[in-house]
Amino acid sequence: MSIHNSAPSGVTKRVIYPYTVALTGGIGSGKSTIAKAFESLGVPLIDADIIARKIVKPGSSTLQRITKRYGNFILTDQGFLNRGRMREMIFNQPEEKAWLDTLLHPLIHACTQQLKALIKAPYVLWVVPLLVENKLQCQADRVLVIDVDEITQITRTIQRDIIDLQQAKNILAAQATRDARLAVADDVINNIGELNKALSQVAELHQRYLALAAGDLTGLTP
Ligand code: ADP
Repeated sequence: MSIHNSAPSGVTKRVIYPYTVALTGGIGSGKSTIAKAFESLGVPLIDADIIARKIVKPGSSTLQRITKRYGNFILTDQGFLNRGRMREMIFNQPEEKAWLDTLLHPLIHACTQQLKALIKAPYVLWVVPLLVENKLQCQADRVLVIDVDEITQITRTIQRDIIDLQQAKNILAAQATRDARLAVADDVINNIGELNKALSQVAELHQRYLALAAGDLTGLTP
């Protein structure tokens, strides 16, 4: 586990209230597993994926705007946004991606802020799988990256999601690279080996985040 006292750019980040630790990592790296470990220590979670789904739930005005633009083709049989089709739609069509980002990002941001305002705990863990892809690192006080090598990522994703090797490779190829994530990390949990090793890092980081949220900057190594 590595710890820095400033953003990798050398620019000290502003303190956000409540103190916000962004947790990110590639698919299958162990984000959900590690987030649950923080939750069991009493840390509240805000999950960006849950918010993103809530914003476009069936019957929402946002989903109506999306269907107005793309038609019902963009829906599943149950009336939910078909994320696979949406991804295909914006693939290689930057103007469509920009349209969706302009529609969704402010709504997701507003919903995140509303949830944060309700938090009474010393800090919040903000789980953001696409932190790097959406350049959201500046919205956190601290970035925690769950890091595994790509073979481990692929193996665990195939086992969990029952998909084939090519599907897993395609998902990885569409995400930020391991190096790009590590470049924005303040802290890194290495989750390649036994889960217990990662969990002991969680306990250590939890203490550190409590101290940081209380304004204690001692004990940080450059
Ligand atoms: P993510 O949320 O990043 O996609 P998950 O937390 O769902 O990843 O983990 C992916 C899979 O790997 C899950 O089935 C999880 O139980 C398993 N897993 C997570 N950490 C470990 C570990 N250290 N050793 C073995 N399996 C793990």
